[in-house]
Amino acid sequence: MKLKINNKYSTLLPADPEEANGTRQVTETAFSYMRPTVPSKPELIHFSKETAALIGLTETDAASPAFTAIFSGKDLLEGTRPYAMSYAGHQFGNWAGQLGDGRAIVLTEIDVQNKNYTLQLKGAGPTPYSRRADGMAVLRSSIREHLCSEAMFHLGVPTTRSLSLLLTGDQVLRDVMYDGHAEYEKGAVVCRVAPSFIRFGNFELFASQNDIPNLKKLADFTIEQYYPEIKGDDKTRYAALFEAVANNTRKMIVQWQRVGFVHGVMNTDNMSILGLTIDYGPYGWLEDYNPDWTPNTTDRENRRYRYGNQPQIALWNLYQLANALYPLIEEAAPLETVLQAYQDQYEADYTAMMNEKLGLAASLNDTKELIGLLSQNLLLHETDMTIFFRLLAQIKQADDEELAFKKISDAFYNLEKVSKETKETWLYWFTQYITKLKAEKATDAERAIKMNQVNPKYVLRNYMAQLAIDLAEKGDYSLITEFYELLKKPYDEQEAFSNKWFAKRPDWARQKIGSSMLSCSS
Ligand code: AMP
Ligand code: MG
Repeated sequence: MKLKINNKYSTLLPADPEEANGTRQVTETAFSYMRPTVPSKPELIHFSKETAALIGLTETDAASPAFTAIFSGKDLLEGTRPYAMSYAGHQFGNWAGQLGDGRAIVLTEIDVQNKNYTLQLKGAGPTPYSRRADGMAVLRSSIREHLCSEAMFHLGVPTTRSLSLLLTGDQVLRDVMYDGHAEYEKGAVVCRVAPSFIRFGNFELFASQNDIPNLKKLADFTIEQYYPEIKGDDKTRYAALFEAVANNTRKMIVQWQRVGFVHGVMNTDNMSILGLTIDYGPYGWLEDYNPDWTPNTTDRENRRYRYGNQPQIALWNLYQLANALYPLIEEAAPLETVLQAYQDQYEADYTAMMNEKLGLAASLNDTKELIGLLSQNLLLHETDMTIFFRLLAQIKQADDEELAFKKISDAFYNLEKVSKETKETWLYWFTQYITKLKAEKATDAERAIKMNQVNPKYVLRNYMAQLAIDLAEKGDYSLITEFYELLKKPYDEQEAFSNKWFAKRPDWARQKIGSSMLSCSS
């Protein structure tokens, strides 16, 4: 297995002087050297061919015992020194102080054709940042992270990747519903891959400690490594860094909204400085369209991280990053300008994205009402978001509103219960929509092709992940492979899978834990 070791973060930023394990508060520390826990019986369940290829590994490499040993934390790659990153964060709107990689350990950073990647194990044992937890991950949450990272990538959503999914052979105690019923589950470890795992929280940690020299070091490092196009004097550069991060964050959120992804724990420690989707925990996918939905049981009361609130929360998180960067700029105006621009630009991006979902020219600026009415209509009767938008491509310019309604009606749960008023409201919307379609130059067929490139046919529905988990718990990994293959081409018809996976959530999945709601216990 040939990997070109090139540690930049751990070479250029300050290491924790203390090297013993054991939880502690750190100062002047960007990371702590830390060896992964040796698993008792590591076993490879699945690996991503694409992510392996991305870092220059072949399928033969992935099948080798060395791969299992290294990506389970059993052996170390020659010449490497693993470490856990330190960061702080705001959790659910409150300052949470120091957090850090409690169960993530960077194995090494590597160079692949002059691009840097960080290889990070998740679930490889305690670190100085584990606080009261065990540093382990269970099989179910590891399957969810592995499958969803890759699915998001193939959907075209910026994300960290997942190279591998392994069992550790160790048992992990978890109380899924936090109700005093803890049980042992299979432990697992995933290897995530990204250019960097730096979060907003890394900046917040130094800022909260008033450690301006290291805050500056981290900002300089981030610019040099990841935003090298940024030049100028210090103030200009740090403001430009903030602007670039805001832009990338906004673009990521627009993509989440497009595919119906709900992150579930948008704390500032889960916000990537590169605008990547990071830390797949109790995330979920909208099945019936509902802006108020959150998959996270911990957030059931306030629904802070609900689908419809994600753009606002990203902005809130950017405010926290602005506060953290402020000491480097000492002027509020440039930061405020960026925050204001985020709001204006988000509105414009959202409209353009929705126009494309509707098969209309992205640049149309008179569609706000049509889009607004659509969001309201989708709430009138339980409607599957993915199926609705996919079926929309079948509507033709010459259709009347009745026919259009008929073409999308498979998206409704309990079609027979759609009321007369609801149908009337929809017919009104379709008259408006068809008028807009008629004004488009593209032919029906051309439009359908374009729409099918932005409206996925297949997403990792919550109950699908749960089915894969239920089987895997019994030692059958076939659904993991099936979903991984299916979700590589989410925009393709893949007729053979239509009946099974281009389908509404079954009734049993409505209230089942794991299928409709998820706890943070992972
Ligand atoms: P999350 O909400 O999953 O992003 O986690 C928030 C913080 O808790 C991070 O610092 C994690 O590293 C830490 N954490 C979560 N689960 C565990 C665990 N099982 N063991 C140690 N630390 C954990
Ligand atoms: Mg996290």
